[in-house]
Amino acid sequence: MPDIRIILVRPQHPGNIGACARAMKNMGLKNLVLVAPQRFPAEEAVARAAGADDVLAAAAVVADVSAAVADCVFVAATSARARTIALPPLDAREAAATLCGHARSGPVGLLFGAERTGLTNEEVDYAHALVQIPVDPGFASLNLAAAVQILCYEIRCSVQGAVPIPQPDHRPAPQEAFNRFLGHLEQVITDIGFLNERHPRKLMRRLTRLFRRAHPDDNELQILRGILNAVQHPYPPRKGASGPDNT
Ligand code: SAH
Repeated sequence: MPDIRIILVRPQHPGNIGACARAMKNMGLKNLVLVAPQRFPAEEAVARAAGADDVLAAAAVVADVSAAVADCVFVAATSARARTIALPPLDAREAAATLCGHARSGPVGLLFGAERTGLTNEEVDYAHALVQIPVDPGFASLNLAAAVQILCYEIRCSVQGAVPIPQPDHRPAPQEAFNRFLGHLEQVITDIGFLNERHPRKLMRRLTRLFRRAHPDDNELQILRGILNAVQHPYPPRKGASGPDNT
């Protein structure tokens, strides 16, 4: 099975955490990450895990989504609601095949939101794609563990060859490197007076999506950061040359 990380963001009910662990183990997945769970460890979690307590015991607990996806080369966010966010929408089957494809080049993460509120827009900002399990639009919200179950099942089907797994054409840089580039970009466009102080988040969100769509690899990020460095510390003009040879 590919090493796909199931990430529960701020889960409220420990029973659901246990049910998610069970859903994962049934389908052969083991990598569970909990972002700021309301109550964990808890007896209810173990009870509902019904034998998948090894998955619970191995679960990593982290403070925020950024830490959960730091080394990921690809992240998908699940949502019961249609969102106005411009991300490629995937159904459960497409999502599973896409995740399995990217898992060939590094760790991948699948984000699930809290029972009552789902994921915030800021949390969805970490994702490359938005996953919606097709449901009756009049009653679209699945129980958290039911949503995890469906996606883990589809991942298993993908692995067993039911759906062709796309082969990634390059290895995208991990999210922490991508986020360092974004921080650098924000710094530079602030310094040069381009970032509108009144709406900094809006512009940065659009730029984040733009660059995320490109899945830059480590080399490409290095080039972009080189350009930002040159903006911060311009090269002195050289006779007969227009700049360093970066081609
Ligand atoms: N009231 C929340 C629903 C939360 S359900 C909202 O409107 O967003 C808890 C989590 O289960 C969601 O954040 C999502 O991760 C997952 N989920 C529930 N229904 C889903 C669906 N139809 N498609 C994809 N994920 C779903």
